[in-house]
Amino acid sequence: MEQKKLDILSLLPEELEQEIRAMGAPAFRARQIFRQLHVKRVFAFSQMTDLSKQFQEQLNERFYINPPKIRQKLDSCVDDTVKYLYGLSDGSCVETVRMVYHHGITACISTQVGCKMGCKFCASAPLGFVRNLTPSEMLMQIYGADAGYPETERISGIVLMGIGEPLDNYENVMQFLRLISCKEGRNLSLRHVTLSTCGLVPQIRRLAEEQLPLTLSVSLHAAENSVRSALMPVNRRYPLEELLDACAYYFRKTGRRVTFEYAVIAGENDSAEAANILSRKLLPVFPGQRPHVNLIPVNPVRGTGFQAGRAAAFQQYLLKEGINATVRRTLGDDIRAACGQLRRDEIGESSPGTEEERESVVSGIESIP
Ligand code: SAH
Repeated sequence: MEQKKLDILSLLPEELEQEIRAMGAPAFRARQIFRQLHVKRVFAFSQMTDLSKQFQEQLNERFYINPPKIRQKLDSCVDDTVKYLYGLSDGSCVETVRMVYHHGITACISTQVGCKMGCKFCASAPLGFVRNLTPSEMLMQIYGADAGYPETERISGIVLMGIGEPLDNYENVMQFLRLISCKEGRNLSLRHVTLSTCGLVPQIRRLAEEQLPLTLSVSLHAAENSVRSALMPVNRRYPLEELLDACAYYFRKTGRRVTFEYAVIAGENDSAEAANILSRKLLPVFPGQRPHVNLIPVNPVRGTGFQAGRAAAFQQYLLKEGINATVRRTLGDDIRAACGQLRRDEIGESSPGTEEERESVVSGIESIP
């Protein structure tokens, strides 16, 4: 029986070694190939000139390499932000953003094609869920966004804040993190990785057990169940009390404070009272530490009707209450660098947009363990 080809870019060094040994080749060959792929970024066996032609052919029969196919690349005129729309082998597409900060270069990557979570303000929600990304498809968003830049300008930080819910693709995201941080490859410290979640409680608890040095960021957006459930259907499954309990557990287990994201939406969640409720709920979560809230003026997405709220005023309310609040600087406004907008334009308006259809997307949440 013919064996199915393996996705070589999703394999860790030890996994690749096992496969190469099984082909009857010595272990050092695996190290050579891993280096060609992940350090030299050579994405064709035929270009791995340190391997014999015959071995290259054997590799071609056993493995496939899925290099990134850039469908669109948009350079911002107002800053150094670059946005990529990648085409995947099945015709799907996802977005990646490359952002230049004073401390280094950060990529915002997607973890799924589409999303099941149905947040009302999000550009991806109405388009529904297609599939999980493989570890190599996440990795290639980074390698693709490094292409054409000198080695000194390689991506040194990652935020899992693109399209998708990373904790709903748990295993593949973990494998991606092992790959990007392994010393034989990119060797990127997980201290420079932020994972953002809409609040999948069991997976937050599971992540706590992994003891990874990454930053966990929870998209809160409201501190009352009624408001949060209206904005984020996931809250009906995991209400605020359970979510904040999981954040407290994460802190106890890892010693690392969870940060919170808060999209400020005019008239929905930006009043002084909302700030007061938010502070009262957050202050007890991390004993001895000030909670940190990242405020983002909501990006108005076509069809949602939401407008940016008063982030600076809301920040002042929170600061007075003893919360560390910052307003996130927006980058690449001219290239629609906010998550999901490019893919949405690419796919067009043929996607579910009515309230009823959105609810059917949301019902996907019921299937989450
Ligand atoms: N699913 C994950 C990560 C992807 S979304 C999560 O929910 O955290 C990344 C962040 O962008 C989240 O905080 C999300 O709530 C926020 N977001 C989505 N649409 C937005 C919009 N229109 N304006 C501002 N923030 C938005």
